[in-house]
Amino acid sequence: MMKRDYYEVLGVSRHASPEEIKKAYRQMALKYHPDRNPGNKEAEERFKEAAEAYSVLIDPEKRKLYDLYGHEGLRSEGVSGFSGFDSSIFSEFEDILGNFFGFDFSDFFGGTSRRRRRAPRRGRDLILELEISLEEAAFGTAKEITLERKETCPVCHGTGLHPGTGKEYCPVCGGRGQIRYQQGFFTLTRTCPRCQGTGEIISHPCENCQGTGKVLEKRVLNIKIPPGVDQGMQLRIQGEGEVGDQGAPRGDLYVQIKIKKHKFFERRGNDLFCEIPVSIAQAALGTTLEIPSLNGSETLVIPPGTQPETILRIKGKGIKDIRSHRAGDLVVKIKVEVPRKLTKEQKELLREFALSRGEKIGDIDPSPLKRFRKIFHQ
Ligand SMILES: [Zn+2]
Ligand SMILES: [Zn+2]
Repeated sequence: MMKRDYYEVLGVSRHASPEEIKKAYRQMALKYHPDRNPGNKEAEERFKEAAEAYSVLIDPEKRKLYDLYGHEGLRSEGVSGFSGFDSSIFSEFEDILGNFFGFDFSDFFGGTSRRRRRAPRRGRDLILELEISLEEAAFGTAKEITLERKETCPVCHGTGLHPGTGKEYCPVCGGRGQIRYQQGFFTLTRTCPRCQGTGEIISHPCENCQGTGKVLEKRVLNIKIPPGVDQGMQLRIQGEGEVGDQGAPRGDLYVQIKIKKHKFFERRGNDLFCEIPVSIAQAALGTTLEIPSLNGSETLVIPPGTQPETILRIKGKGIKDIRSHRAGDLVVKIKVEVPRKLTKEQKELLREFALSRGEKIGDIDPSPLKRFRKIFHQ
């Protein structure tokens, strides 16, 4: 088959910029993707052709050769076809090409692939829930916690090897870490199930860790909780997760904050909310109360004529913001309490009080009806 012109294949001009070439290739790869064209030989051919054109035009050296001498120029320089070509130039198209599990372009074009092995894995992150009191959340605290996490095996120092033995090449994948198999037109590669992609196996594993190089251990940590933390916040403690593979970093520890219900205060953002009962006389005449706060106590002035459900604020006596350190308010809702039990004398006094206001106690008092009519039937 005659090789088509690479610019023609991608439908770009000879002066196309790398961006234009990338864009054109993306469109072609999407259009002729074998997943979208199952069993379509022509689409497969186009898909392959576009990849080849792209791999040449995106490489300044190869493009120059191609511009000067055409396909022949690449052949004479030994860069024809795809032997030894670098599949990483397709890495930015993983969103399209990634549909092929373990797809390896150098296999696709009959080249030789570099041995790819799984990179050492970073340690797992750990998540821990920590319940603290509202006071601890407001002022910060230090907590000692005990957790179980994977640590480097002390016997084999993380190698997973029985002392005095070494690793061997995996017999299943021959040390490649990957297994190739043919699926119709494609040669696909898959992570080796025997060695998990490492390319090596341990014939004599360490007894202490069963060859994993890691063991579960109890650790006691001292955790600092900054003032102002709120329910559901997550503190990241770097490097306190599980140990990673040899040569890989540890995971992180995430502490999830849970705040115990307080018997008196309710937190609303950085405000502290509470309800304070006052008597009818205190509400009517006004008074000064000493009320609890997270620091100890505060003075609250109840003005004369305070109505039930009135909200009073004491500025800056709430919780300090974790970042800005600006304090919220102490927010007080006034509950006016009507006495349930009265002595004979108290009843007499109240009756006198009512009479002085022209209210009727015991008889039928028509004043609510009169007031109603005044409003609605003027
Ligand atoms: Zn071990
Ligand atoms: Zn293997």
